[in-house]
Amino acid sequence: MLIVMNQNATPQEIQAVVATIEANGYTARPIPGGERVSIGILNNKGPIDADAFLGLPGVKEAVPITRPYKLVSRESQMEDTIIHVGDVVIGNGHLTLIAGPCAIESETQAMTIAKLVKQAGAQIFRGGAFKPRTSPYSFQGMGLEGLKRLAKVRETTGLPVVTEVMDDETFDLVEEYADIIQIGTRNMQNFSLLRRAGKARKPVMLKRGMAATIDEWLMAAEYILEGGNSAVILCERGVRTFVNHSRNTLDISAVPVVRKESHLPIIIDPSHAGGRRDQVIPLSRAGVAVGAHGLMVEVHHTPEKALSDGAQSLYPHQFETLCHQVRAIFDSFKEQ
Ligand code: PEP
Ligand code: MN
Repeated sequence: MLIVMNQNATPQEIQAVVATIEANGYTARPIPGGERVSIGILNNKGPIDADAFLGLPGVKEAVPITRPYKLVSRESQMEDTIIHVGDVVIGNGHLTLIAGPCAIESETQAMTIAKLVKQAGAQIFRGGAFKPRTSPYSFQGMGLEGLKRLAKVRETTGLPVVTEVMDDETFDLVEEYADIIQIGTRNMQNFSLLRRAGKARKPVMLKRGMAATIDEWLMAAEYILEGGNSAVILCERGVRTFVNHSRNTLDISAVPVVRKESHLPIIIDPSHAGGRRDQVIPLSRAGVAVGAHGLMVEVHHTPEKALSDGAQSLYPHQFETLCHQVRAIFDSFKEQ
């Protein structure tokens, strides 16, 4: 249930509602809105009697939340969440382009690609330092050395950086270096990692599990919001299907569904969805056309020599083409 306060409710009235919720044995979560504060009631085992709150000063109404994901749902927050990372804005009304290699391989590699993608129009740099690889014999990432190269990229180019966290042990380290902490598809339901992300002071990009339903994905995001971190960016990166013409199947319909169900921003990763370079630009155009708030694209200056995901990495000039095309698509419906 959501207790919606009057527009002119005082901090004391809000506090009194919080205290009443807690006195009933529930958890209260104030949600500041554009015009008024709402207070979510969490941790109720059964139905809640609205009458206990309706008579309190400053209370406008009590709205039942029908979805299992409460804080993530539009029922608890009507306005879109907008996330600021330095000067970059992610959310409704903006198209945020994130690009970089799958993995940080060296300082020269990271810096070369960062300068090229920035010139082409990227606003955020991506690069894995801790890599979840299918084979234990594949390149596992540079670890801390990779994080340091990311910090150098930020310092030199001014681009904020996003990088993946793989486990609780390295969370503090990744949080220290990253501007956005990425949770990958394989960890979408790693609940201890999600709880730790809920305590993080940086935005989290939560990728959809490769076989997760949208409900499961939004419930995973709920863990992070429930923990106290409301800066979550959802990332659709394709799901496993029977096809073999692409690495995964980009679930385009996830974008309008998520935008209807949730106030959180949603971006598309066309690189891991397609898995092949020639699919990345068309999937990007589709992602933006269907309403994604951004894209995260793998780019490499010498993809034939890349230590991971070279086959799906764009050449920098292709990324430049992508940027022009998707900006044109975004601008064509932005004003409507
Ligand atoms: C990645 O973005 O580098 C990555 C490993 O993606 P995913 O978790 O979607 O496979
Ligand atoms: Mn990759």
